[in-house]
Order: sequence, then structure tokens, then C-alpha cells
Amino acid sequence: MNPANTGAKPLTLALSKGRIFDETLPLLAAAGIHVSENPERSRKLILPTSDPDLRLIIVRASDVPTYVQYGAADLGIAGLDVLAEHIRDHPGGLYQPIDLNIARCRLCVATREGFDYHEAVRQGSRLSVATKYLHASREHFGRKGVHIDLIKLYGSMELAPLVGLADVIVDLVSTGNTLKANHLVPVETIAEISARLIVNQAALKTRARALAPLLDAFGRAAQPQPA
Ligand code: AMP
Repeated sequence: MNPANTGAKPLTLALSKGRIFDETLPLLAAAGIHVSENPERSRKLILPTSDPDLRLIIVRASDVPTYVQYGAADLGIAGLDVLAEHIRDHPGGLYQPIDLNIARCRLCVATREGFDYHEAVRQGSRLSVATKYLHASREHFGRKGVHIDLIKLYGSMELAPLVGLADVIVDLVSTGNTLKANHLVPVETIAEISARLIVNQAALKTRARALAPLLDAFGRAAQPQPA
């Protein structure tokens, strides 16, 4: 990174633990930046990197856009699923320069085996939908002209159709193993999802020199991969 920045306030990159953290490490490594602590083992929420001008903060995935939007982090990495929901509630303040092509998956409608989703839709039945993706679900079923009752859940969505809480779920599917293990089947893909780099819009102006090499490095390292 730019040696002229050393000694200034470090740039702060907001990340969530798990797949996004794990898949971001090689992108940072490609920029010559290494992280020695693993948030799965450490309780620290602020992690230094080998670059004194860059530190990481570890936050919940759905909180990454909030930290960046308010400028508590200069930049962050968030799934398009999280970002799309956040932006609809809190528009503005975020610049999305790069699709990092990591943490790829699909936002899907899934039902239990044996539920004839397409027939239910054809008949104009009212569907109950369990999800944490309220905006994406409302828009998807709205486009199809399907009337829905939305049930907000925060996790383990796969359980909802099994115990009669909902007819369908809208959730992320990666390998499909979780659906299969719970006798659910994907019936529609709403969106292809990947993680995006997001940058605070004010930081983009006030910290342009410090950000430029990092944005370049992420841009170069983010190669398209098969889904
Ligand atoms: P899988 O069994 O590989 O299809 O993964 C499905 C489970 O992992 C679901 O509970 C999803 O909510 C979650 N999941 C899949 N992909 C992602 C992702 N990119 N980010 C966060 N959660 C994910």
C-alpha cells in the first residue's frame, strides 16, 4: 500500500466470519497482505494485518453495510443478498465498485418434496413464505403476481415447511445439501449471489490515495469462477 499513508489512521475493512472471511484471505494475499489471526479462534473483533495501513473488523454479515455506510469502516465485503436488502431500507452512501466473485450461491425458492409449487402458483393460491429476504421475496412474487404472506425468520429457514410454518422458503442455496438433508427441493432461482466490495462514498473522496492500491488489488484478484 502507499508508503505515504503509514502512520495515518489505518483503513478499516469490515468482514464477516466464515465463508466471506475465508475467501477474502486469498484476495488480500494477492495484494501482499496477510492476516495472522483467525476470527473463528480469536475473540478479537479488530484484527491487524501485515499492512500497518489496513485493519479488519469482524461483524455480522448483515451489519457490514451499516458499518461502511456510517463510515465506521472505509470499506467492506458483503453478499449481494445482504446488500440488496440493506440498500432498499437505507439507500445511499455506499459505492459498489467490484464483484469479487467469492461466496457464490443462489437465492432460491424451495418447498418440501411433494408440494406442487407450480400448480399452486398456476391456481393463484396464496402462499406463505418464510425468509429473511423480505424485499427480494416481495419483489419476486410480486413480479409473478403471486399473493404471499411473509414470515420473517433469522435462520434455519429449512425447518419452516417441515413443521407447517410456511409453504415455501426463500433462502441461499450453495451445494443444495442442506435442502436435500431436509427433504426440500429448489423450485426457482431468484438471483445469482456473490460477494461485493463496498466502499463508503465519503471515504472514496477523502481517502482516495489510500484506497486506490487496495481497490486495484481487489479488482485484479477477483477472477470470475464457475458457480
Ligand atoms: P448448502 O447446503 O451448501 O446449499 O448451503 C445452504 C445453507 O448455507 C443455507 O442455510 C444457507 O442460508 C447457507 N448459505 C449458503 N450459501 C451461503 C452464502 N454464500 N452466504 C451465507 N450463507 C450461505
